[in-house]
Amino acid sequence: MNTKREISEIADEIRSCSKCRLSDEATRGVPGEGNPDAEVIVLGEGPGKEEDEQGRPFVGRGGQKLDEIMRSASLSRGSVFITNVVKHRPPDNRNPRSDEVRACRPFLEAQISTIDPSKKIILTLGNTATREILDTREGITSIRGSFFSWRDGVRVLPTFHPSYLLRNPSGSPKSPEDQMHDDMLALKKEIASSS
Ligand code: URA
Repeated sequence: MNTKREISEIADEIRSCSKCRLSDEATRGVPGEGNPDAEVIVLGEGPGKEEDEQGRPFVGRGGQKLDEIMRSASLSRGSVFITNVVKHRPPDNRNPRSDEVRACRPFLEAQISTIDPSKKIILTLGNTATREILDTREGITSIRGSFFSWRDGVRVLPTFHPSYLLRNPSGSPKSPEDQMHDDMLALKKEIASSS
């Protein structure tokens, strides 16, 4: 599973996967999409209702917010690859359970190794995605905005999940949205410095 394979081949396997209970209730798998030569992998938690309907990641309200914030730092969807920790929608948008995350992990590993972000960056959105990559119990509020190194040369930048911004529009001294905007600017700067 961890050998380098075509992103479309991994996507086909995800769509036909029934390794955990999530596939029983979901409409379809949501493999992820974007530029397979991306410098940045954006990692969310799991598909929501709209994503489940369309088979594409981050197309609902959270996705619109993500697009908006990325655009505010002149980053486009076309320049990244977007995927999730689990590829089928958890019912009622509950958090994915550890056995579901474990069952899905080989797909994420295959995507990471195909996209090969070594010397590149994984942007983790929220606690679930961050804890899946980094060995931490720190909450996203305290570790967001700093780069961590992972494996061989991969940089990981944790930031808020866009749904958190929708639920928490204000904050002091800065709103979560302004903080996430700062993180996107840091990401943009990091990309520029490494290219
Ligand atoms: N939230 C996520 O974590 N991922 C999506 O694809 C959509 C909403």
